[in-house]
Amino acid sequence: MSSTPDIALPDDLLPRDGRFGCGPSKVRAEAIDMLSGSAGHFLGTSHRQAAVRFKVGELRNGLAELLSLPDGYEVVLGNGGTTVFWDVATFGLVEERSQHLAFGEFSSKFATAVRAAPHLGEPEVISAEPGDHPLPVASPGVDAYCLTHNETSTGVAMTPVRPDGADPGALVLVDATSAAGGLRLDASQVDAYYFAPQKCLASDGGLWIAALSPAAIERVERIGAAGRWTPASLDLGIALENSRKDQTYNTPALATLFLAVEQVGWVLENGGLEFAAGRCDRSAATIYDWADAHELATPFVTDPAKRSHVVATIDFDDRVDAAQLAAVLRDNGILDVEPYRKLGRNQLRVALFPAIDPDDVAALTRCVDHVLGLLV
Ligand SMILES: *Cc1c(COP(=O)(O)O)cnc(C)c1O
Repeated sequence: MSSTPDIALPDDLLPRDGRFGCGPSKVRAEAIDMLSGSAGHFLGTSHRQAAVRFKVGELRNGLAELLSLPDGYEVVLGNGGTTVFWDVATFGLVEERSQHLAFGEFSSKFATAVRAAPHLGEPEVISAEPGDHPLPVASPGVDAYCLTHNETSTGVAMTPVRPDGADPGALVLVDATSAAGGLRLDASQVDAYYFAPQKCLASDGGLWIAALSPAAIERVERIGAAGRWTPASLDLGIALENSRKDQTYNTPALATLFLAVEQVGWVLENGGLEFAAGRCDRSAATIYDWADAHELATPFVTDPAKRSHVVATIDFDDRVDAAQLAAVLRDNGILDVEPYRKLGRNQLRVALFPAIDPDDVAALTRCVDHVLGLLV
């Protein structure tokens, strides 16, 4: 491992905020100020009382508006983040057999959870190489199609749509952890759109949140009525009952809840999902156009239609040591642009989430140019 060259970036080149990580990701300073201003009557108070229940209600209603959920969809939440939601869905949403699109680290994990479950059949897995995504294929007997809106490990996004010819009643379950609130969505195409708030919602980790369609809710109730054994903390029926009362089954992370509500409110005040997605579009155009034009950089995802507007992955020429570049940037307060460790490429990965200022993404490209000018 080479040592990091001592390079100080000029102040006027630096982004105003140096947080470009894909999760936990940048939390807006205004939201943190609001949290500390409200701390005295919010943090450290009972989640069974009005102040916290009101926040849960605000989050549920705000997300329904942000995601334009059709009538009958409900927002449910619980503790543990997306990884725990995979277990929740393994118990409460997959009836018999699921199909999974695997095109990176995160999209592969749900299939692993299902495969290990003794109460479910062997899942179908359709894979694509990192940098690409497969499409779902209607398959008799599959009752849950499991997609990923944005594969955070590779920077590939796909449009969640119901597969043509799927069995009637089959559900579409979408991991939207790094997409929800940043990428456009037609919610009528999905039955469970689930995520955690430490990415586009500019909050902290620890919660899972799921928008469930009436068909998904019916599935949860049917599996519950059939008596499938489910640990209470993973029981989507119990989570649904609690969410309807603006509560969680056990104590939620209150600061996480608060910051998520702040972000949803900020996006809604500024025009809703179109505002957020528009900011991500601008950041994406900035970084991909820069890389396309660069002698030493190339967008990792070759098909422009599959390039994520919330997570950019940029490959570098062999003359550049991207790890060293990331280390120099880190020394200058530009954080977490290292590549996803398991992808193992000579690459930078940059979050373009709505809270991240598109002007800061432009500043980041100028900082990279400056460092490359000295190193190469
Ligand atoms: C971050 C991420 C996860 C994991 O979320 P946790 O809350 O840490 O469990 C899952 N899926 C995707 C697509 C992610 O980006």
